[in-house]
Amino acid sequence: MQPKVYFIDDHQISLDKIDEHAHYVISTLRRAGHKAYLVGGGVRDLLLKQRPKDFDVSTSAKPEEVKALFRGSLLIGRRFRLVHVRFGKKIIEVSTFRAGEATSDLIVRDNIWGNEEEDVLRRDFTINGLFYDPDAQTVIDYVGGYLDLEKRILRTIGEPKMRFSQDPVRMIRLVKFCARFDLNIDHDTLAALLSCKGEILKSASARVLEEVLRMLESGSAKPFFHLMHEYGLLQSLMPDLADYFTSNPDNEALALLCEADAAVRKESLDRSILIAALLFPLFRHRLLLRAQQNPRHFHLGTVQEEALSAVDELFGPFLLLPRRLSSMAAAILTSQFRIQPLDDRPLKNPRPPREYTFPLALKLFKFRTAIQPDLLPFYAIWAEASYDQNLPPPEYEQRRKRRRRRPRYDSNPMHGT
Ligand code: ATP
Ligand code: MG
Repeated sequence: MQPKVYFIDDHQISLDKIDEHAHYVISTLRRAGHKAYLVGGGVRDLLLKQRPKDFDVSTSAKPEEVKALFRGSLLIGRRFRLVHVRFGKKIIEVSTFRAGEATSDLIVRDNIWGNEEEDVLRRDFTINGLFYDPDAQTVIDYVGGYLDLEKRILRTIGEPKMRFSQDPVRMIRLVKFCARFDLNIDHDTLAALLSCKGEILKSASARVLEEVLRMLESGSAKPFFHLMHEYGLLQSLMPDLADYFTSNPDNEALALLCEADAAVRKESLDRSILIAALLFPLFRHRLLLRAQQNPRHFHLGTVQEEALSAVDELFGPFLLLPRRLSSMAAAILTSQFRIQPLDDRPLKNPRPPREYTFPLALKLFKFRTAIQPDLLPFYAIWAEASYDQNLPPPEYEQRRKRRRRRPRYDSNPMHGT
């Protein structure tokens, strides 16, 4: 099939918006006689006039051939082999054109090489199936993604029911793009989502978890969780949270995520505080019920025990948080009741604990003051005490840096999860 080609007068992507390292990777591959293009989310974001998070390259060169061209590059993935070309901290991901499987089963093999057209046909949504050629400055479209972007429509490439059954994580990705770019879902794609939503539990839990955590830190967590509930995916993944959303449509968890979204747009936040923001109102509800049942034995130690089990129970049972993350989220939830004690005892001379999660707990408390201004005096007292103690301690800073250096294993189905 002949692709539709769009020139600079149409797409208006100026060359200086293309990452210089991605451009260098493409030029090097081409000089060695291979085909190479920018592909996927980067092209989509440029057309939407947004700054791409990452630039991915698709090429006719096999992974070993790519590796041989770039010193220090790494072959990664077993199920979906690709090459990470590294420039300091930056990574350009280079994948070889491959063909998808036309059967309706779950994808089992991903390293069947193909041509450009086959490579886009295996991708998820039309808006993610565009190539950009930086030499000719053209956008190459085999799937109608360019016009869909203009019309702001999200549509699967291929028959939507089959595409969701092959890889149910695509349903979460659909909600993610809908939330992030405020797009409309095509009629057939939406019908397929509603009929396949239960199949989400067939996917690898780790891949779903990664998409959910990435959305928490995306700056669009509020619309994402709202839509996850509206389209019925939350009901399968986090049933307790979904029940709470159903009985409280304008709920406090969404309001807290709105605060977190605004904060994340200014500075990166640890995933633990975002998890705590999502779970806090439901956790408090649970805790108050327990406290009513057994008022005499309620102290911070009890809150901590409750928090540890609540995080795993409310986030699960399908999604399993890494131990470090769930215990940090539990500590942040517990500290909410240190900052404002359950028995409303007046605070005299508060002493912030030297726990590395405490500054995050205070930040979550600050989000809560935007929804409940009568909490402000509590926040003010603890913020001042923390300032006097010169928190956060260096340990917290170190942990944050370590997390950022972790290589990105995203939810690409093919990343051998
Ligand atoms: P983001 O901006 O969140 O990174 P993205 O679209 O770039 O969004 P990635 O996970 O980086 O998402 O994937 C890069 C590309 O790989 C996508 O644009 C899409 O073409 C393809 N892709 C990713 N996940 C899938 C999937 N589950 N099924 C088919 N194609 C996928
Ligand atoms: Mg991407």
